[in-house]
Amino acid sequence: MDGKTDIRTLQQFIGGDWVDAENGATFEVLNPLDDSLYAHAAKGTGADMQRAVAAARAAFPAYKETTPTQRERWLLRVAEIMEARQAELVDCLIDEIGSPIQKAMFEFTKGLTMMRAAAGLCRNVRGETIPSDRPGTFSMSIREPLGVVAVITPFNVPLIKTTRLVANALAVGNTVVHLPSEMAPHLSLIFADIIAEAGFPAGAYNVVTGIGAEIGDDLTGHRDVDFVTFTGSSVVGQHINEICARNKTPNTLELGGKSPTVILADADLDTVVPLAARSIFMFAGQACIGSSRFYVERPLYDEFVKRFTMIAGKVGMGDLRDPGTVIAPIISDRQRERVKDHIADAVAKGAKVVAGGAWEGNRCQPTLLTDVSEDMAVCRSETFGPVTAIYPIDSYEEGLEKANDTDFGLSSSIFTKDIDKAFHFARNIDAGMCHINGPTIHDEAHVPFGGNGESGVGREGTDADMEAMTELKWVTVQL
Ligand code: NAD
Repeated sequence: MDGKTDIRTLQQFIGGDWVDAENGATFEVLNPLDDSLYAHAAKGTGADMQRAVAAARAAFPAYKETTPTQRERWLLRVAEIMEARQAELVDCLIDEIGSPIQKAMFEFTKGLTMMRAAAGLCRNVRGETIPSDRPGTFSMSIREPLGVVAVITPFNVPLIKTTRLVANALAVGNTVVHLPSEMAPHLSLIFADIIAEAGFPAGAYNVVTGIGAEIGDDLTGHRDVDFVTFTGSSVVGQHINEICARNKTPNTLELGGKSPTVILADADLDTVVPLAARSIFMFAGQACIGSSRFYVERPLYDEFVKRFTMIAGKVGMGDLRDPGTVIAPIISDRQRERVKDHIADAVAKGAKVVAGGAWEGNRCQPTLLTDVSEDMAVCRSETFGPVTAIYPIDSYEEGLEKANDTDFGLSSSIFTKDIDKAFHFARNIDAGMCHINGPTIHDEAHVPFGGNGESGVGREGTDADMEAMTELKWVTVQL
C-alpha cells in the first residue's frame, strides 16, 4: 500500500511521487500517550535528501513563473481540502503527538488561517521605483523568490509550522524541501497529499522523513538550498546556523524560550490566574512561548500562589478526545527525563512543589514551584513541560530586571493597569514579543513572530517571510 492510504508504512513525497527510503529502511513512530506503535515511517537517507533537493530545484524555474492568481488558487484550495479532511488531520494531531482535542482543534483552525493568509501574500511580492541620480534613468527594485527553501519543523505544533512556513515559501514563488520532526512525520505527509490534490506541480513541495540528526546536514548544507527556516531547539539551531554561515545561506531560526510573565500589584487576579494557567499548561507546557517564569509583586504574591495552585489542581488530564482535557503526554523518553530532572533538581536544591510534581503514565501533573533559585536548572533552562516557577518581586523595576535575566528572548507578558509601566516594559524587555495584559501564548499569521538571543534569529509571518524568502534586485532602464 502507498503512503496515501496506509498510515502504518509511511512513504516520503519527492518530486510528486510517494517513495520509500532509498535503502528501504524505516523507523518507528510512537503514540506518546502509551508508547504504542503509531506508524512505520520511511527512514530517509542522504541520497533521499539529494533527490528531494534536485526535485525542488528542477521544479523551481517553471514554478517561479506561475501567476499570483494561480498560486493563490492552489493555496486556497489546500485550505478547502484541509476543511474536508479535518477529522484526519485532527486524529493525527491526537494520536501522533498526543495533542488533546482542544489543542488539536486550535492548531487546525490556526493552520487554516495560515493557508489563507499566505494566499493573500501572492499579490504582495513587491519592489519599488527609486529616484535615480543619472539623467534619463528609470530605476526600480524587484523582488524575486530565492529558489529552494528548506523547512525544518518541530514536533509540538507541526500543522501550524507546516502551513505557515511551507505556504509562505510557496506563495512567494519558492519550492520547498520539508524535513518534519521524526516524531510527527505523518502530519506532513497528509499535508503533502493535500498539496498534491490541490494541484501544485510535482516537485514544488517535497517531504523527506527520517532522523534529523542523521540527515539534517544533508539539507541545510546543500549547495542548492537557498534558504533555511528552522524551528526547534536552540542547540540544533546553533548547529544549523554554523552550517548556513559556511555556505552563506540565509536563514531564520525560531528556537526555545524561557518566557516571563510579570504581575504587578494593581493586576486583577480574576483575569490573570486563568490566563497564567493557559500560558503554561496548554499542551503540557510543550510550547516555545509558554510562560515558565512568573514574577509577582509582593502584595499579590501569596494570593496568586494560592489561586494558581487551586487552578493547577483542576486542569483536565483525562481522555485526549475529551474537550476538557488540557494536559498532554510528554512526547518522548528523552523529554520526560528532562522534565523529571528539572523537578528533582529543584526539589533537591530547596524548591517547594506547591502543585503537581507527580506523573500519571507519560503525563506530568501541572506543577508549580516556589523558592526557586539561580542554581536550579528550572530557573534558566527550557523545561518543555507543565512546570513553572513563581517568584516574588518588590517592584516593577525588579520584575523587569529579572525578566531580562535570561539568555532567551522569545515571548513576554506584563499584567498591570499602569500604562506607563506597561509600555516601559514593552520597550525594555529583551524579547521578540510582548503582550500587555495578555498571556505569553499568542500567535497570528501576519505578525512578526520570533525571538532574540538563544530564542533565534529573524522573524516569521506573512510579511517577515516574504522579505526573508525573496531577494531584492535593482534594475535600471536607460531611457
Ligand atoms: P528539535 O531541535 O529536537 O528538532 C526540531 C527539528 O530539527 C526536527 O525536525 C528534527 O528532525 C530536526 N533536526 C535535528 N537535528 C538536525 C540537524 N542536525 N539538522 C537539521 N535538522 C535537524 O526540537 P523539538 O524537540 O522537535 O521541538 C521543541 C523545541 O522547538 C523547543 O526548544 C521549542 O521551544 C522549540 N520551538 C520553537 C518555536 C518558535 O517559534 N520559536 C516553536 C515551536 C517549538
